[in-house]
Amino acid sequence: MSRKVRHVLGISGGKDSAALAMYMKMHHPEIDMEYYFTDTGKELDETYELINELESFLGKQIIKLEANHSHKNPFDHYLDVYNGYLPSSMARWCTQKLKLEPFEAWIKDDLAISYVGIRDDEDREGYVSTKANIQSVFPFRKHIWSMEILYKVLHNSTIDRLATHYKKHGSPEMMERYLEIVYELQSSKYLLSQKLKDLLQLSISTFNHVVFDFLKDENYPVSYINEYSLLDNEESIDIKKVYQLFKDNGVKVPGYYDEIEFEVDGKKGVYNRSRSGCFFCFYQRKIEWVWLYERHPDLFSKAQEYEKDGYSWMDNETLDQIIKPARLAQIKLDYIATIQKKLNGKNKSNKLVDILASDTEVCANCFI
Ligand code: SF4
Repeated sequence: MSRKVRHVLGISGGKDSAALAMYMKMHHPEIDMEYYFTDTGKELDETYELINELESFLGKQIIKLEANHSHKNPFDHYLDVYNGYLPSSMARWCTQKLKLEPFEAWIKDDLAISYVGIRDDEDREGYVSTKANIQSVFPFRKHIWSMEILYKVLHNSTIDRLATHYKKHGSPEMMERYLEIVYELQSSKYLLSQKLKDLLQLSISTFNHVVFDFLKDENYPVSYINEYSLLDNEESIDIKKVYQLFKDNGVKVPGYYDEIEFEVDGKKGVYNRSRSGCFFCFYQRKIEWVWLYERHPDLFSKAQEYEKDGYSWMDNETLDQIIKPARLAQIKLDYIATIQKKLNGKNKSNKLVDILASDTEVCANCFI
């Protein structure tokens, strides 16, 4: 059965979603992508610059979604609604109200495939809609499917269905091995991750075609499309390739990722902001607050103005406290020591932005 399915890609202002937009235009121009940006009204200027640059590159408008149109900006509107209660990782009303709800209102009841820029060298899932009409796919990974789909397709109870699809799509010379893997039950000795790895090692595109066919008997947005070029995509994209996409396409990496030198007590370090999102985002590390204070003092002052009535952006310290000279110097020294330790350890990238981002929780809706 065929029904209209929308293809949507959210630009967060971060490097990975921007790289994905470039990648999709270059490698899958036949997919009629709708690009969108959910604006909290508190983003950094560099985010808007990136949106403008991408619009030129894509030759398409990036649709701006806002949570409300009746107030001077969406974040302040909801802060009033929540009685000045600042969002935090434990009470993340901002993501719900400013990102998810406008997105889901824009999609309405349409069927939609949402393209998410989680890289192959990352181990996280990102936004997976709880709405049945929205399905996430991950073109940068070896395979493109969400965990929910993998659990379903590789479940012990659906082994015969999986085998039927492999018999249709797998190459005859490898069929014995395919079926051996398919019929091996998941258990504590043979985990889903291993089964997946074994199947992907034989052929990524065959796995994608098998899953696509399997889903024809389900009720996902992808169940309603007939042709899908992503199935044959065997390329995976890691952090190096993300930067390469910016370079190859002449799009400027947002300025907040630039590594800037500083000196403290005779020691040198470099700092930057590791991710996009609101300038006051509570996910920032302390060194990023220091970066904001020193590089964007106007924005830091605005963030300070929100700290009142006992509410603060961080659990254990206020912004007034972290900029006291002794405390600020200590934050820088601690940070230099931490980075040094990480550089001596195993990091997939030696770029500061990735070292910082890999160390802290992320909001996939705001930062990818
Ligand atoms: S960037 Fe941070 S503060 Fe802004 S909406 Fe996302 S989680 Fe909330």
